[in-house]
Amino acid sequence: MATYQIVVKGIVQGVGFRPFIYNLANSCNITGYVKNTSSGVVIEATADESTLRSFCERIQKEAPKLSRIEYFDFQLIVEKLFSGFDILESESRPGYFSLIPPDMAICDDCLRELRDPSDRRYRYPFINCTNCGPRFSIINKMPYDRPYTSMAGFIMCPDCKKEYKDPQDRRFHAQPIACPVCGPQLSLYIAQNKIAERDEALQKARSIIKSGGILALKGLGGFQLICDAANTSAVQRLREGKLRSAKPFALMASSLDVVSSFIKINDNGSDLNGYQHPIIIAPIENTSLAHIAPGQNTLGFMLPYTPLHHLLMDGEPGYPQVMVVTSGNISDEPMVVDDHLAFSKLGKIADGFLSHDRPIINRVDDSVFRIGVNTVTPMRRARGYSPDPVQISASIPGIFAAGALLKNTFSITHEDRVFISQHMGDLDNAETYMAYRESVDHFFDLFQFSPEGIACDMHPDFLSTSFASVMAERYQVPIIPIQHHHAHLAACLAENLLPLNEDVIALTFDGTGYGPDGAIWGGEFLLGSAAGSERAGHLQYLPLPGGDAAIKRPYRIALAYLHALDLLDKDPFLENRCSNQELHLLITQLDKNLNVFQTSSMGRLFDAISSLIGIRHEVSYEGQAAIELEEIADPSIEDGYPFSLVDGQFMVKSLFENILVDISENISVPVISSRFHNTVISASSEMIQHIIGSKPINTVLLSGGVWQNQLLLSKMQIEIHHLGLRVFTHHLIPPNDGCISLGQAVAAGSIMKGR
Ligand code: ZN
Ligand code: ZN
Ligand code: FE
Repeated sequence: MATYQIVVKGIVQGVGFRPFIYNLANSCNITGYVKNTSSGVVIEATADESTLRSFCERIQKEAPKLSRIEYFDFQLIVEKLFSGFDILESESRPGYFSLIPPDMAICDDCLRELRDPSDRRYRYPFINCTNCGPRFSIINKMPYDRPYTSMAGFIMCPDCKKEYKDPQDRRFHAQPIACPVCGPQLSLYIAQNKIAERDEALQKARSIIKSGGILALKGLGGFQLICDAANTSAVQRLREGKLRSAKPFALMASSLDVVSSFIKINDNGSDLNGYQHPIIIAPIENTSLAHIAPGQNTLGFMLPYTPLHHLLMDGEPGYPQVMVVTSGNISDEPMVVDDHLAFSKLGKIADGFLSHDRPIINRVDDSVFRIGVNTVTPMRRARGYSPDPVQISASIPGIFAAGALLKNTFSITHEDRVFISQHMGDLDNAETYMAYRESVDHFFDLFQFSPEGIACDMHPDFLSTSFASVMAERYQVPIIPIQHHHAHLAACLAENLLPLNEDVIALTFDGTGYGPDGAIWGGEFLLGSAAGSERAGHLQYLPLPGGDAAIKRPYRIALAYLHALDLLDKDPFLENRCSNQELHLLITQLDKNLNVFQTSSMGRLFDAISSLIGIRHEVSYEGQAAIELEEIADPSIEDGYPFSLVDGQFMVKSLFENILVDISENISVPVISSRFHNTVISASSEMIQHIIGSKPINTVLLSGGVWQNQLLLSKMQIEIHHLGLRVFTHHLIPPNDGCISLGQAVAAGSIMKGR
């Protein structure tokens, strides 16, 4: 006889791991115990050595499907005698990292019970098991055990307790276990008055949706606003209430069949259906829901991921088949998570509030992916993914990275893993910034994290930068500012598990990033590795009149660029672009250099072209002009416009000149758009060859929000392959500024390691 102490780390808590060990041990006649600690699962097992060895093998081979073993170790310890095999109470050990499982979509077994009239959880909106249900959104503290979740206040009924304690039951040790007798319940509020509970609340909520109203639903990670997607006046009312005039809404449909009648999901159906259930944006199959995404040829769909969504969606004939399901907030504010704030913030929009009494601890938005012909790009990483870490190729010191200003996430690192927060949003909104600070505190708490260094953007005025200084002061550790586009490079390098010291070329194309020369960068060709890079090339500088204000009015960018390139007199439609007076003022502003910024932004170039060829002159959300420019392009066109590279700069005068010629010759917009895309690809390709020269570099990275453009991305990848080089982009983390905190962390970590 011998005794092994086994330690297993990874995603091994909240996924049915201990019951699995318990059953396996019993079936092998092993005695001992298993327990959760905040550093992972610890097992002590007594049997003969060959049994113990096969036990170790089977743990790794047969582990539950939602678990992920990242570390497995065992050692022989002094022989201990146990009377049986037990699951012991969890213990918390300070200073250790453990993985926190993300929220998971309802599993097939629970869905079957939800619809089975003979089941005791028939139509119970909070049904879950060890394989599904809320996790991160209800966790207060580690280790993951019911008293540390927002289920703490619900006392299990005898039936639930029996299931929870029965190792043969599929809810054995399922922490959020609940039933109609003992668990959370629904309530429906209208004008802040509770008017119904339980199934009656659900029925009334359904009739609000059916009659064209807007329902506020307390979902998994926050409130959502829901209405019948086919009802144009309900959708319009939602737009007005949310101050969101044109930005597309996410949709939910009850089945994959319904989704595929609206969008081309190709082989990506499984992405919609996995345990994450993100929103998938794909090209449209028909135009019946065009009012959901004005000016776009794509729609975003998700499938119901909680039992409550199923109960709301499942419908008799005549009941809405597709619903708008959008986050419950106004404009850029954070999603509302509690009833009182919901009443005050969403009271003017929603006709009713379907709420419940299980508190939301961590706010998590829905995750979003965009699908092209042969590309899948993450746009927002949150529910189902966070706070799952990203594995990187080497260990780095413990870093807190504050992230960017827009589409913010923050990161903390532990050895060779980076824990990236869920999508936080735009920090220039005061309430989002407050929510960000709270989430940082909570992450530090959950992971019992103490940083060795702090990383932030180089921009001196970012709120995240000043917050980083506060943190550096608090922990008495160095602060390391990282240039925005270098952070993009480092993020892409890290995410693809490339060696952190490998030299690469990174095409970091985005809207805005603070350059060390004070200009606004964004069309950058960087050469270097995680610890540092040099600017090997860039889009030529052009004037941005009024900085951020011009971003909302692409026609002013187009005019400013034409003026700078000395082409205003060649524009056949100059008179139509704005009033003479406005044009005159704009030219004066540019000539006198009043509040004019120099920019190499690729995003702004797309905006300018979008307006120049008549697609979009003013935008109501970020990226609108560029998205519409992409979607109108005819991908079969293969030629482009002339350009030149001068001193490592991509010069665009001949590009603009030739577009003006095409416009005056009435060449169609889809053709011009495609020729423009092809020009950016050819210029990039030539720049890459120029930079490489005789250097032994064979890897090109693509990062930055411009790479959300699936047409540009797929053609660029093919082009780089043709050059005989390897190309990497993002597949786990968005290429937009959602990846900046990962890049800052990895860059700062590499710099500290080198010191
Ligand atoms: Zn389940
Ligand atoms: Zn119960
Ligand atoms: Fe960026």
